Amino acid sequence: MCGIVGYIGKKQAAPILLGGLKKLEYRGYDSAGIAVREEDGVRVVKAQGRLSNLIEKTEGGAVFTGTAGIGHTRWATHGVPSECNAHPHCSFDGEVTVVHNGILENYRELKEKLLRGGYVFRSETDTEVIVALIDYYYKKYKGGPLDAIARFMQRARGAYAIAVLFRDRKEDIYVARKDSPMIVGVGEGEMFVASDVPAILNHTRKVYYLDNLEMARLCAEGAEFYNIDRERVEKTPVTVDMDPSAAEKDGWEHFMIKEIHEQPRAVADTLRRYVRDGRVDFSEAGVGEEMLKPSRVVIVGCGSAYHVGAVLQYVIEGLARIPVRVELASEFRYRNFIFEENTLVLAISQSGETADTLAAVREAKAHGAKTLAVVNVQGSSIAREADNTVFTVAGAEIAVATTKAYSAQLIVGYLLALEFARLGGRLGGEEYARLLDGLASIPEKMQSVLSHKEELQKFAAEHMNLHDVFMIGRGIDYAVCMEGALKLKEVSYVHTEAYAAGELKHGTISLIEEGTLVVGVLSQSAVCEKTLGNLEEVRSRGANVVCLVREGCAVGAPAGTVWTVPPIEEYFAASLLVLPLQLLSYYVSVQLGHDVDKPRNLAKSVTVE
Ligand code: GLU
Repeated sequence: MCGIVGYIGKKQAAPILLGGLKKLEYRGYDSAGIAVREEDGVRVVKAQGRLSNLIEKTEGGAVFTGTAGIGHTRWATHGVPSECNAHPHCSFDGEVTVVHNGILENYRELKEKLLRGGYVFRSETDTEVIVALIDYYYKKYKGGPLDAIARFMQRARGAYAIAVLFRDRKEDIYVARKDSPMIVGVGEGEMFVASDVPAILNHTRKVYYLDNLEMARLCAEGAEFYNIDRERVEKTPVTVDMDPSAAEKDGWEHFMIKEIHEQPRAVADTLRRYVRDGRVDFSEAGVGEEMLKPSRVVIVGCGSAYHVGAVLQYVIEGLARIPVRVELASEFRYRNFIFEENTLVLAISQSGETADTLAAVREAKAHGAKTLAVVNVQGSSIAREADNTVFTVAGAEIAVATTKAYSAQLIVGYLLALEFARLGGRLGGEEYARLLDGLASIPEKMQSVLSHKEELQKFAAEHMNLHDVFMIGRGIDYAVCMEGALKLKEVSYVHTEAYAAGELKHGTISLIEEGTLVVGVLSQSAVCEKTLGNLEEVRSRGANVVCLVREGCAVGAPAGTVWTVPPIEEYFAASLLVLPLQLLSYYVSVQLGHDVDKPRNLAKSVTVE
């Protein structure tokens, strides 16, 4: 989940490394470090906390002169966030220097072996075991860097992307990966390494994707790729079409609020790509009709992507009458799932690198299920491993808390639901056209919700000292609550729970006290009155009730604060309802003075289990 960057060429490496890390800081931010090859060996500087500390400590990179180096911004898995545990890690004699993204699962067993061999460890990280093991193989077998790295790969369990400097290989940087992303960027007389495209977008758009269990040797003139057997692998570079300005704030105070406002565009762009001549058209994604006629659908995802699935189950079941299950990818992968004939596994992930979702795709494929990915990042692992991928057109998402990717995923999901329904003979003609028109109206309606953001800002200012918040609803409204509650928790650290409105009185209602904030979401006509009844139950126990209502939903105006969103087809209501909850979360976080783009303990793109 961390960010890795590397450079080799003719320019001073450190400022390039720091610039790359800046673009990757959202991937991990509890410490950072760089290693640069200098005249007298590899020199490492690390700093705890935000990247700005490292920039200060290295005077913006000016303390280094070398033209080759590697950098890392960490999301700690093994060992507290500290300078000692920060990467890069070096072998005791400075022979080998490594940055690592992922988890070495069998590090204990390997560490035991190395301790017996006389190795000494300074940090608590699993990464230092990688360093020592490579160093051990390098010295023992004298087969060179690729041999040592390949031997490490044969012994390692878990996930890793590593960049390695060898003290005596002055012209090279080495990289390898398994289940964590790594790309190699091509410049003019210079080469780059990165865990994620934005890190090098200011320098090049031409990249090679390293595949699983592959290694590469980079020098200023180019790269050579190898498989784990040290055989050469031929690769063709691809040109990425990401806009470098996506990684800039463009005058907004934070990425999160910028991305909240980019949602109408993300939705419109996604619709434009997959709706042609009044019809849903997934041909660009290579999705054939066979894929769109499943007998059942299993949606897998983590976090907000799972919440997208929670909405889509109602939409797909409602429109297409196909049974849907929504599974947390981390549970699905180990649950020995029963795959029935003609099951489609729909894997949703913004980054396309989510470790659990990737594992779920592999599990599904191993059982002969069809796999369709909904992913935002081209070239990502899930996109490459699933049978087909429908890309969301959200652009680079930088804030750790997702907003625009969530919205774009919903749109792809709605379009899939329409196609399942049409091909299953349940939808056609006017109704199909009406629903497509409904989708086309979403961007404008989103804009209208966003134009009332001051209402949420004011509410957040008045209610920033919240303790416990409950968000309740039924059906799609409940699924929206799940996303709203996650948003408020993750960026503002206010304890928030989503509850199925009918479930509250089976236990949780005991937590309602005088002043507890309860947000009721009301967009589904068939169940609105029921939810209103549940809101009355909490109000009579002292709760401060706010209603988030779809205009046109058959509700008598509930007392107290009401936030409304424009009328919209009920199946698509989540696309509008989520916006006030995102805005609320953002403004509460800002009021409380939190780092809204980089909430504590979190990182974007969760590439570890
Ligand atoms: N497992 C390593 C550590 O805790 C790498 C974590 C990361 O991916 O940032 O240092």
